[in-house]
Amino acid sequence: MRIENKSRFQHSLSDPAEFTLTLELVPSRAGRGTAHDRALAFAREAAADGRLQAVSITENAGGHPALAPEVLGLEILELGLDVIIHLSCKDKNRNQIESGLFAWDRAGLRNLLVVGGDYPQRGYRGGAKPVFDLDSVQLLDLLGRLNREQPGGDRRNPIVKGLEPTSFCKGVAVSPFKHLEAELAMQYFKLQRKVANGADYVITQVGYDARKFQELLIFMRQQQLNVPVLGNVFVPTPGVAGLMNQGKIPGVVLPDHYYARFLTDFTEPDKGRKKMLQRAARLLAVLQGLGYAGAHVGGPGLTFTELDYILAEREAVKSDWLEFITEFSCWPEESFHCYQKAQDGTGLNSEERTAGAELSTSLTYEMSRWFHDQAFTEEGLLYRQMSRLCRRFASGAGSGLLDLFEYYVKFLLYRCQHCGDCTLPELAFRCPQSGCAKNILNGACGGSRDGWCEVYPGRKKCFYVEVYNRLKKDGLEKSMQEGFLPPRDWALNETSSWVNFFMNRDHTNLRK
Ligand code: SF4
Repeated sequence: MRIENKSRFQHSLSDPAEFTLTLELVPSRAGRGTAHDRALAFAREAAADGRLQAVSITENAGGHPALAPEVLGLEILELGLDVIIHLSCKDKNRNQIESGLFAWDRAGLRNLLVVGGDYPQRGYRGGAKPVFDLDSVQLLDLLGRLNREQPGGDRRNPIVKGLEPTSFCKGVAVSPFKHLEAELAMQYFKLQRKVANGADYVITQVGYDARKFQELLIFMRQQQLNVPVLGNVFVPTPGVAGLMNQGKIPGVVLPDHYYARFLTDFTEPDKGRKKMLQRAARLLAVLQGLGYAGAHVGGPGLTFTELDYILAEREAVKSDWLEFITEFSCWPEESFHCYQKAQDGTGLNSEERTAGAELSTSLTYEMSRWFHDQAFTEEGLLYRQMSRLCRRFASGAGSGLLDLFEYYVKFLLYRCQHCGDCTLPELAFRCPQSGCAKNILNGACGGSRDGWCEVYPGRKKCFYVEVYNRLKKDGLEKSMQEGFLPPRDWALNETSSWVNFFMNRDHTNLRK
């Protein structure tokens, strides 16, 4: 059955006079039960009320298995409320994603929030296999192609003729709440890639700092990223706030001194619930005052009555938003801010950029770049010899030897995984197949914390923090703002990337 999506959400987003409100629902690990009944009851009330433009439904949130979002999504659409479906890269390969998109298109589920996704956690009899066949930028590219009727798009997968175009509206996420320069820069650079690859709107990570919320808007305006942004307004329970403070929710940072305020609130008879709802109302007012296009409200167990209270309270206080800035000033001064603090007493930003840190580089990086420039650029001293060698060994008895030689050298230097399509030169000579837990090719995920990888906190630095630091030393960090690396081509697995480069089989020879 095809259900026409009214897309009130899309109309609201495209109207600058509207403040778009959405709410996040998190399905539980069951097909039936009271959690889903509550979600549907909430949606029924919200549809009748009319102030929410859509509910968004998470997909295996936190990396845990849960009811597929489209199931609740279709039931909620039938109730007359618009729906945003989260689409993540963690559990499905590109073909399964495409197949699912055709199903959602047919069913009328066309508003998406495209994310890389939290690393998969324990499921049936153990930890689930992380997939991450695509990253979020590649997924946006696929969605753009489906909207333009061309899902193929390279010479090995020609454009499919006669397809009905889809009309997906593609949201993305970004976090201004990062402590280190490298983490923050990689978030903003990746946002630029997302917008260049078709993002229609943006939702921020959870946070409670007005200056950081404003920083994102200034950056987007300066970079002419003209897409609407919804700020995240999260109402935590005591248990969830504790997890946020301990860094147990990927990408969410709740600084100690701000968490201390929450702890004081939690001692009250209602466990601080009223204070939390008032805080949410004030944050909504601040976001609207700063110029956000809307807000994305969330929180475990939030009832419609509580949402009604938040929205009514927001109406009552919204003209006082500047007075609440100090209440939402939780980000440590010593953490990196993109812009210097304004001297006008507001506690917000000026438009003057902050100078970043000086960085050093490594010998492996310098040597690798030198060899690459000599052997793989046409002006290089070794280019002709390398080209001749690779073309001669492209097939026949010697090809295996050359392949093995390349693999062992690169394994020793970079822990090469033999993907056959080398992206070392674009990524500061760090291998994303061995260095990034999610094998992301187009910039950092949102999960890092204090520069550590989401998957190996305290043990392994975020791959993209290291890439940024290396590139910045050479003044090349802005190369991460643009460009597009296509997904790994598994047809090249365990073949020589050197040969593939000279035989025009790798990503450097694919048209976008
Ligand atoms: S990107 Fe591929 S070829 Fe290059 S080092 Fe990594 S696994 Fe090896």
